[in-house]
Amino acid sequence: MDKLNVLRTYFGHSNFRVGQSELIDNILLGRDVLGIMPTGAGKSLCYQVPALILDGLTLVVSPLISLMKDQVNALAQSGVKAAYINSSLSAKEYFTVLQNASNNQYKILYVAPERLDSKDFLEFALTAEIRLVTVDEAHCVSQWGQDFRPSYLKIVDFIQQLPERPIVSAFTATATTEVKKDIIKMLQLAKPYTITTGFDRENLSFTVLKPQDKFKQLLQFVRENKDKSGIIYCSTRKVVEQVCDSLQAQGFLVTRYHAGLDDYERQKNQEAFLYDRSTIMVATNAFGMGIDKSNVSFVIHYNMPKDLESYYQEAGRAGRDGESAECILLYSGQDVRLNQFLIENSQEVNEDLTEAERELLKEKDRQRLKEITFYCTTSKCLREYLLRYFGEKPPNYCGNCSNCNTQFQTVDITIEAQKIVSCVYRIKERNRSYGKTLVAEVLYGSKNKRIRSLGLDTLSTHGIMADTSITNIRTMIDFLVENDYLEQTNDQFPVLKLSQRSQKIIRDKPTLTMKLPKETPTASIKKEKVVLNDNVDDHLFTRLKELRNKFATAARVPAYIVFTDASLRDMCRKMPQTREEFLTVSGVGAIKADRYGDAFTALIREEGNPR
Ligand code: ADP
Ligand code: MG
Repeated sequence: MDKLNVLRTYFGHSNFRVGQSELIDNILLGRDVLGIMPTGAGKSLCYQVPALILDGLTLVVSPLISLMKDQVNALAQSGVKAAYINSSLSAKEYFTVLQNASNNQYKILYVAPERLDSKDFLEFALTAEIRLVTVDEAHCVSQWGQDFRPSYLKIVDFIQQLPERPIVSAFTATATTEVKKDIIKMLQLAKPYTITTGFDRENLSFTVLKPQDKFKQLLQFVRENKDKSGIIYCSTRKVVEQVCDSLQAQGFLVTRYHAGLDDYERQKNQEAFLYDRSTIMVATNAFGMGIDKSNVSFVIHYNMPKDLESYYQEAGRAGRDGESAECILLYSGQDVRLNQFLIENSQEVNEDLTEAERELLKEKDRQRLKEITFYCTTSKCLREYLLRYFGEKPPNYCGNCSNCNTQFQTVDITIEAQKIVSCVYRIKERNRSYGKTLVAEVLYGSKNKRIRSLGLDTLSTHGIMADTSITNIRTMIDFLVENDYLEQTNDQFPVLKLSQRSQKIIRDKPTLTMKLPKETPTASIKKEKVVLNDNVDDHLFTRLKELRNKFATAARVPAYIVFTDASLRDMCRKMPQTREEFLTVSGVGAIKADRYGDAFTALIREEGNPR
């Protein structure tokens, strides 16, 4: 079977996505490959399709137990013989799988990296015909990446022990040059064919909000999106607990995930989410690597994460089925301070690094934190900002982010800039320095307790911007910091300082313009969305979902493994009545058509909408 046939028969997709064809072709030619593609781009197919074409076995090294189970379930649904080996198996199950594998019962075997050097496994591997080794989430091999796993270093030893070197393919969503170099080096990829596909995810909309009351904002959103499945990321376990409890109290079906829970509860909660028993998952960043639940409609960051790499990866878990989805970040200055604190006080001491190297890493972390802070405060296109950060040259208007969709006006802030810089200057004359908010309050003329007790109401610059809102003053300060006209320190309680360029503002009085939102920045989440999901018959969609759930429950797999929402929507559109027609539905291959075709086409006929 050729690759397109495999794609259609087993996976039910009609065409390859960007990058997939080339990677598959190169693997089939016997070449090592490295695929760098964003979350949701479809990396799995790049090794699953060759696995079905090549003779022998494909071994997939993957870091997460839950992911393996999910993938193997999904493959089984598509008629592919696959299994996994990890610590969740009992000794008996483990040996059964090895036995079956020795008898060539599988095309694909997932294995946890920790297992690679175990005696039984090696024994098996030495006699098996392993043609392809795939390293998924390959950035875990790099100390420079965010998820370094020492067990990944075993992979290359393992490969070297095999009687015949297999083709090695590696996949990741992390694109930085260091990580890429590290992957090639640590896995000893031989002149790999490397591809980095575009990082844009068109179906995701990006929003940054700076709400006074984060929880209120969150509540409003989840109320407006009641039946949708989503993830809410919080910076700490404590916040996870609070948000989860509060949403539960409001009657939402929510569950939680963080490293403070025991294995059993983590597993249970994760499954509740995957199986749609809980529609909302509240979690720390411990949740999600390798999660490919396809119908996640929103990812909300309740706190700003530490860098854009983490943000894009976590946000990217929305909309994997290609349907439109929302990524919302709720920003506050406190998030910046917490992250600064974590950088300065990080306990992760890596013995292999010198003091100087450690300081260098910290400096990189500070820089990355700055970049994500700018992302939160910029008034330019958010997608442009993200893609540019990942090394692309995107257009400066996407029409699908909160900045492109907010009405901005360009305002001249020449005078305001002078006022702000003078205020910082006056404060410095008193040998003091304060944070952004306090400075903004002084300029606005606030007489709150803090201001009075510090005597700031006697400054000559107190109240000289009384006609501008504090929010707008802060936005202007952000702008001045972003453009180096002021400096913001990088410690736990960042304060504003004069920079080298500050005096330019006073001396040269350069004309400065910036974009300010016409409406207040705390305005509610935009109502109009780019419509990617064309309207489908709600009633039929609901009936199809019920049918899908019946099959899923019987097979004890998450619903999306039977069919994704995208597939069900396509059924609503195409109204297939025969097996042939059913096969044209996106995500329906031969196996699924055999297994489910009759039931679904019968339901569609019964619902009777003539085409
Ligand atoms: P990742 O790159 O994050 O590992 P996955 O391999 O998990 O992404 O794929 C994400 C989703 O994209 C899955 O639901 C998969 O079925 C879908 N997908 C992958 N390739 C295609 C394709 N060629 N056509 C349609 N859908 C695809
Ligand atoms: Mg993946």
